[in-house]
Amino acid sequence: MELSDLYRDVILDHNRHPRNFGNLSPANATIEGFNPLCGDRLTLRLQLTDDRIADIRFEGQGCAISTASASLMTEAVKGKTRAEAEQLFERIHGLLTDDAAPVDEQLGKLAALSGVREFPARVKCASLCWHTLASALKAGQTASLPAVSTE
Ligand code: ZN
Repeated sequence: MELSDLYRDVILDHNRHPRNFGNLSPANATIEGFNPLCGDRLTLRLQLTDDRIADIRFEGQGCAISTASASLMTEAVKGKTRAEAEQLFERIHGLLTDDAAPVDEQLGKLAALSGVREFPARVKCASLCWHTLASALKAGQTASLPAVSTE
């Protein structure tokens, strides 16, 4: 697949050096995500304090897009309130699925994910972690949540 150079560099960097990768202890929300189309699997762990994502980490195995997206996502939502993270989810969901969604400077490095929409087969690779996060936020502080599947 061909992405613009800028977007490709961001994706490659976050795939090679994923941020917030590993176990998180303590965590008060743990959720698994699976994208059967590609085989991407991830486990997302959050430390929710009051209404804020105090900490977030992910583990798992997936393709470069899914790993980079999870890395970019954890970096972007750490420290954000639940409402802010939900807004960002909506924004990214639009970015991945709507060709007309604007790509502006506010997005920062997350703009790289917009490159994926040219490759419909890979959109679920990029959106997996975001759907997983949205489910975790909706459920709130529970020990374990049912797995999320993109199918
Ligand atoms: Zn994938």
